Amino acid sequence: MHLSNLSFLDWKRYAPCCLCGESRAIQHSVCQQCWDGLPWQKQHIHRHDIECFVSCHYDFPINRIIHQFKQQGKFEFIELLTACYLEKPKPRVQAIVPMPIATEKLIQRGFHPSYLLAKALSHHWQIPIWQPVSRHDGHAQRGLSRADRLSNLLDQFYLNTEHCRYKHVLMLDDVITTGASLAALQQQLEQLGCSQIQSMCLCDAVH
Ligand SMILES: [Zn+2]
Repeated sequence: MHLSNLSFLDWKRYAPCCLCGESRAIQHSVCQQCWDGLPWQKQHIHRHDIECFVSCHYDFPINRIIHQFKQQGKFEFIELLTACYLEKPKPRVQAIVPMPIATEKLIQRGFHPSYLLAKALSHHWQIPIWQPVSRHDGHAQRGLSRADRLSNLLDQFYLNTEHCRYKHVLMLDDVITTGASLAALQQQLEQLGCSQIQSMCLCDAVH
């Protein structure tokens, strides 16, 4: 078949794996071997009083994929990253709250990574996105003590509404390390009146 005769669906069917580039992509734009080879974790972890579902360990190749998506804007990885989140069954929540990004970072990067992933999940689960919390431009965390880091983080988040539209929500982020950002976001959501807050991340960066 000549390439120009391929429809988009045909192209998807014949497209090579976006990781190895060799085998045919069977699902989520990767081949079966690459999919099986992801550093799966698929479990709930506890950090900073947060219970969070994580799909993978922050290891090769998912760490590279996230880096390329966030730092280089490689949106072709969204399908794969979304599929990793979808290893968890649909949560019973009324809205998805993506981790807020500071305006300074948004301008620098040109897009909001967690929002893009939340958008894909929102479409798949038919659950709306809600962004009642905003984020100030943060000062560097490096060099601060653990307690200072925490209060620094808490100061970064603020409510942009007084109306608690949804009580049951899912906080969404890409990588969890200490869990401090999620804890700070959770605190704001609780203050607003959310009563059931779940969280979910792609990767767990602490081993
Ligand atoms: Zn592959």
